[in-house]
Amino acid sequence: MNRDLKGKTLEELEKVVLGFGQKKYLAGYIFKFIHQQNGREIAEISTLNKAFRAQLVEQGYFISQLRVVDSLSDPDGSAKYLFELADGERIEAVLLPEDQRQTLCVSTQVGCPMACAFCATGRIPFHRNLTAGEIVDQVNAVCSVPVRAYPEADEDRITPDGVTTNRVTNIVYMGMGEPLLNYDAVLKSIRILNHSAGKNIGIRHITISTCGIVPAIRRLAEEEIRPRLAVSVSAPTDALRRKLMPVADRYPLAELLAAVRDYQAKTGQRVTFEYVLIDKVNDSVTHARLLVKVLRGLMYNVNLIEHNPFSGCEYTASSRARIRRFASALKEAGVETTIRFRMGRRIKAACGQLQAGYRPRKPKRESSADL
Ligand code: SF4
Repeated sequence: MNRDLKGKTLEELEKVVLGFGQKKYLAGYIFKFIHQQNGREIAEISTLNKAFRAQLVEQGYFISQLRVVDSLSDPDGSAKYLFELADGERIEAVLLPEDQRQTLCVSTQVGCPMACAFCATGRIPFHRNLTAGEIVDQVNAVCSVPVRAYPEADEDRITPDGVTTNRVTNIVYMGMGEPLLNYDAVLKSIRILNHSAGKNIGIRHITISTCGIVPAIRRLAEEEIRPRLAVSVSAPTDALRRKLMPVADRYPLAELLAAVRDYQAKTGQRVTFEYVLIDKVNDSVTHARLLVKVLRGLMYNVNLIEHNPFSGCEYTASSRARIRRFASALKEAGVETTIRFRMGRRIKAACGQLQAGYRPRKPKRESSADL
């Protein structure tokens, strides 16, 4: 049994507490200590009596802690955190400030088995899934690590000694790894982060971004807790998508979009389709019009992502002019479209650039031709 208290929901903590013959409400004190106060040591939970704290430690319970190896801030305001896990593996998370929002992009796996051709993480061999505690702790660590004030930092983030602490308002499961391949830990981490006795991050402020794992999308539709869903599509045809995203071999577009349609029928939720724009590969007006055609009948918006180059990648980013033309073609068809221009590129924290210091493997795929 995993004895990390950080990776337990409040209900699981209640079972632990009851197992020691203690009152159930004490679980709430533990949960608050870990998730509101970012507490680290069981011995410091002053709301529990000393004997109970000692019993917990004796029985092997602990509060896990990621080690912050490095944190780098980009002049555009984004910041990247490199974490070391207890077994020495490394992952990254990225904080993206935008207006009043502070979105943390968290990792869910060490490496990624999906091997999308436009993504640096996909070049790292898959090592393992993260635990729920390791996912949650990326948020806790970023909230408790002091960072130097950016010029535009909120007044309320600045402490008297001149440093700031981060506030995370939104979470996107879009860092290293495919979140729906680590389904149980991801869902558990969402339950923990969403709980009102902890970080209390609204469920509408939490997004799972998937490359399109069809059975998991269908499973998610049945959950009582429903974060927002984003699906990386990045090509309007199976032939092109297979070149960019090997997942398309397993789940062709028709199957993927049928799952999204059923998801919407169950949940009534709009879905975001993400589309990484690669120069002269998938970024023509013809591609945009085809995309509108294949997505017809769905409730959706499109998030266009500027491709971010990395060492060994055979693709280049579309020009801003091509990106705007692509966006205009979607908008003319009535599709709500946003363009995510690069943030954090200088510190290799932009979308598709996370490698946590691992050595990349060679690409599996050949370059694809334009339509
Ligand atoms: S884009 Fe996501 S699913 Fe694809 S290789 Fe990168 S991390 Fe994995």
